[in-house]
Amino acid sequence: MTPRHTVQPSGAYDLSFEEVVAVLDDEPRYRARQVWDGLYRRLARPAEMTDLPLALRTRLEERLVPGLAPAARRTADDGATVKWLWELADGRRVESVLMAYPDRVTVCVSTQAGCAMGCTFCATGQAGYERHLSTGEIVEQVVAAMRAARPRRLGNVVFMGMGEPLANYDRVWGAVERIHEHLGLSARHLTLSTVGVVPGIRRLAAERLPVNLALSLHAANDELRDRLVPINRRYPLAELAEACRRYVETSGRRLSIEWALIDGVNDRPDDLAELAAFARPLGAHVNLIPLNPTPGYPVRGTPRRRVVAARDELVASGVNATIRATRGVEIDAACGQLAATVAGSAPAPASPPSPAPVHVRSVVSAPR
Ligand code: SAH
Ligand code: SF4
Repeated sequence: MTPRHTVQPSGAYDLSFEEVVAVLDDEPRYRARQVWDGLYRRLARPAEMTDLPLALRTRLEERLVPGLAPAARRTADDGATVKWLWELADGRRVESVLMAYPDRVTVCVSTQAGCAMGCTFCATGQAGYERHLSTGEIVEQVVAAMRAARPRRLGNVVFMGMGEPLANYDRVWGAVERIHEHLGLSARHLTLSTVGVVPGIRRLAAERLPVNLALSLHAANDELRDRLVPINRRYPLAELAEACRRYVETSGRRLSIEWALIDGVNDRPDDLAELAAFARPLGAHVNLIPLNPTPGYPVRGTPRRRVVAARDELVASGVNATIRATRGVEIDAACGQLAATVAGSAPAPASPPSPAPVHVRSVVSAPR
């Protein structure tokens, strides 16, 4: 393995157009356009670029290598949900989840191997930080999902897999631009999820592309949030609220708030009142998700009956709130959980991992 924290972009989707031109140095220039179209429009691997001469295809297979190799793949919901555990070139592992619905197809992608934010309830946070993903490694997760979704068109990307997108801002934004410009997805169908990295939220407010922002709040008083989400000690709620207010004002985009309901921890009447007080002035949409228990935080999610009651209470207090539709999938689909089951960054198992039943954390209700 390479040293910690080192990003070594190496896959085909890490190359810029100019770099593809350079790879094809002795070929006529139109070839670079053909190869670029092959990668981004036809989602093809070099071997599938049958409009190229065979010798060139063979040569490109050595130069335009994949950045991701499947270490495990599970499906659920009759194939409508697909979860991959990808192995990166240096052996690190990340996950993505493809979700097909009657009206849309969405992929949830990872932005880092591991995560440094240390949220106590999160499997990825419990495992710790390994490294940033490169732009190409992020884009390639989308490409793989677009290929798998065929003949349907994948139209939505949520950056809600492993890692904190705004802690890897430049590479994530590079991926947003590629996905928008070259894969042709609308910026309004891309959603970045953050735990509350305030400088990142400020930068996002100034960006040209109007992507959606989801804030993983989970607690709206500093004492509780400091414990659940340690980054709150650096960027406390007042500062976070101010950055969100500026984001909403300058971008004109709606903010959504994620709230994982944890039994007896953040689902009491006071917690909901604090949530309402935070969300209302921002005009934010609240997504309630019952917590998925993880090995390092064996507290259960709020039972369904009380999730519904929490939603009703928020709505009654003037907050736009919905319960995130979960599918009854049992494929370790909460991001970080499949990697934990398949033993982190150990070598890929020869046979598929045993399907230990863990409930899906669905990401379906991200803004469309
Ligand atoms: N780091 C970013 C994006 C990845 S986490 C963020 O925190 O927003 C994606 C979402 O999954 C976040 O809302 C996170 O709080 C939530 N999450 C993490 N662990 C969870 C669990 N065990 N149960 C339910 N949601 C969880
Ligand atoms: Fe990182 Fe998000 Fe997990 Fe927190 S919830 S540890 S920010 S991936």
